[in-house]
Amino acid sequence: MVSEKANQIGESLTLKVKAKALAMKAEGIDIVDLSAGEPDFPTPDNIKEAGKQAIDQNFTKYTQNQGIPALIEAIVHRLKEDYGLTYTKDEIIVSAGAKSSLYHLIQALVNEGEEVIVPAPYWVTYPHAVSLANGKPVIIPTKEENGFLMTPDQLRATISPATRALILNNPSNPTGAAYTRHQLEALADVIMEEDIYVIADEIYSHLVYDDFRFTSFASLGEEIKKKTIIINGVSKSYSMTGWRIGFAAGPADIINGMNKIQSHSTSNPCSISQKASVEAFKGPQYEVSKMRSEFQRRRNYVLMRLQSIPDVSCFKPQGAFYLFPNFSSTYKKEFNNVLIRNSYGLAYFLIKEAKVAIIPGDAFGTDDYIRISYANSMENLEKGMDRIIEAVSKLKTAKKVKRVALNNTITHGRESVPVDSSISVPMRDALVGEMESHLSYENYFEWNANINGVIVQLRTNVSHLNDFWIENWYPAQLEADLEPHGIIYAVDGISGREPRSFYSSETNTGVLVNSDNYNPLRSLALGLVTDVSERLFNVHTVRGMSADLEGQGLVLMGPKGTKKTELFFSLLQDERFKLHSNDIIFVRFSGNQAVADSTERKLFLPTNTVESYPAFAPLFDNSKCENVITRKEDCQNAECLRLDDCRLDRGSPYCYKASKNARVLLDPYWINGPSKHVKRTPLRWLFILRYDKVSPPMVEMAAEDALRILESGESLGAKRSLTPSKREPFFNPHLLVTDGPRLELQKNFFQRLLECTSCYLFNSGVATAEDLKKILAGEEETQESI
Ligand code: PMP
Repeated sequence: MVSEKANQIGESLTLKVKAKALAMKAEGIDIVDLSAGEPDFPTPDNIKEAGKQAIDQNFTKYTQNQGIPALIEAIVHRLKEDYGLTYTKDEIIVSAGAKSSLYHLIQALVNEGEEVIVPAPYWVTYPHAVSLANGKPVIIPTKEENGFLMTPDQLRATISPATRALILNNPSNPTGAAYTRHQLEALADVIMEEDIYVIADEIYSHLVYDDFRFTSFASLGEEIKKKTIIINGVSKSYSMTGWRIGFAAGPADIINGMNKIQSHSTSNPCSISQKASVEAFKGPQYEVSKMRSEFQRRRNYVLMRLQSIPDVSCFKPQGAFYLFPNFSSTYKKEFNNVLIRNSYGLAYFLIKEAKVAIIPGDAFGTDDYIRISYANSMENLEKGMDRIIEAVSKLKTAKKVKRVALNNTITHGRESVPVDSSISVPMRDALVGEMESHLSYENYFEWNANINGVIVQLRTNVSHLNDFWIENWYPAQLEADLEPHGIIYAVDGISGREPRSFYSSETNTGVLVNSDNYNPLRSLALGLVTDVSERLFNVHTVRGMSADLEGQGLVLMGPKGTKKTELFFSLLQDERFKLHSNDIIFVRFSGNQAVADSTERKLFLPTNTVESYPAFAPLFDNSKCENVITRKEDCQNAECLRLDDCRLDRGSPYCYKASKNARVLLDPYWINGPSKHVKRTPLRWLFILRYDKVSPPMVEMAAEDALRILESGESLGAKRSLTPSKREPFFNPHLLVTDGPRLELQKNFFQRLLECTSCYLFNSGVATAEDLKKILAGEEETQESI
């Protein structure tokens, strides 16, 4: 499992789109790639020659961490020549690309929780780079009608005591907007009043058009220079993106901080590239002007084509090599019944229909737009624009369909909380007192559930928990003097307390603090009912997925990672099987039969079960759900994110696969009708699952072997081997009381259960549902013991 940081961060979309375009090209599809973030010109010959010489001279070893002196000197020279700026060599650091300079700078500058102001539309990396330093990106939206420029008033209003820096990208990726000297001075006036830095990303400084004059922020005066760190490099100006050379210029103490961080991440940038970059900065500069005039010609052409599209507007940029047209008039239109909802949807449509790759504006924080790069040949630009215009003209106004709104609640609580299951009675009393004091008259819900004959009263201040509780269980009788067997308090919003569950077996009281997620509440209820039923009724719970085959029951048990769900739902595809329970059953003995009851009115399922059982999707649409993802930014399914056929892009307002924590309460009678669900079945087969590629597919087990495995909750080659502390006796995470005498009781129960069932060790890494069915039909020879 990767870290939370890595899990949450989105992969750079530019790279993803590029990879997709390349993959399509490799399949022989004629793609026009207008997503490029780099000039399409070759690196000038004199620069390449300098690189070759570096190789010939064996300049291929580590260099100074901060960059070779010749390159630092060349950068000092260029900054002086271009902007009249004077820097000393300890005020410059060379990195593996401007991105690396920016990353090290933010790491060196920003403390946890500090804010960094980022005007939007922004280059995709900025907010991520700030978050990775545990800082907080604060976005200032800019408008097309203001030329996508941030105003001094906006800046002043956004600066707070927590602000550490402003990132000013001039000219901008993705809009191409650039600030005049006058406009920069007005921003500098605001900065001078505050104790903050300006990160001036000027990587496109040489690519400005018409008669626009670029001004470096640091050149506005000596005082502002002390608060500015310039980021620049060779990537864009000299068409050297792959050489990976960027630099930062700023106050020596900050450069020194970056130097330390760089010494532990990349060390020096590539030695050969450093030598080539000396030539770039010091050699003749006319290639830059040639590139600039070619870009200007292309910008004018693409802009003219975009402006010819009805209802599309496009700002005329002063720099960089991107156009950022507003295509929002195409949203809510459809093609072949697929609705375009946003810029991702449009990007998907354009790559599939027009075979043109562009970048959706949402990646830059502005969904109404798309980014078109004109760093491509005139021929490709013509072809790309022809295709975009034709494809867009095919879009039709969507029929108005009334969409059933999903009944979905987003919770702030986690899906599992630590459980303290042996609290003393005085502690229980104190906790109950504390809970009662938070249950005010106006915000109080109470409902008695009958869970397999045990009456449990919920007292809560969370309407969502009450709602799910009522949906999940059958109601208890409503006699006036009814005393519940147990009580659960679920109280949210108690300051100073971590989310946690408590249970007191002596008083049958459960307490759930600060969790509005239904999973911990349901688990606490099942634990309480198990505790009461074991003691009072000699009824036990078995944690597993159960089904009925022609009047006889089977149950699949095992730890996480053994593909239980996939196996279970694949069995249920067979007509002859009836669903019994997807999580827990209550078992009592009647003669020599083990009678298993399923007591939940609704199945509490992870919504990503749709992957094993796609027919569930329309049923979920009409069920109560928790934490279903409705925005692509919140998607947690990294694998799916890497593909390009996201449901949310293609018109669906929500996705059941996108979250591990999304749950649904599904009526089992809706799955293929009432005849395919039973509430009771006598257990005949017990399958303990393991998952690996080497063990035998199926082994029939002697009762004592099975008991040993069950008692220890051993993982037996489960995909992720469980650490002893994570082992759950009898694979049952809902058990609350697991002291010696109680484990003995549970063991006795399973011993008896094993006497009236056949038990198999089933390796779902090798065997399939078809193999399992052979056992049920008595056809399969299995090994006799493990
Ligand atoms: N800043 C901006 C605004 C950019 O667009 C890019 C490249 N797309 C960079 C920095 C990074 O440049 P480099 O390739 O030198 O890392």
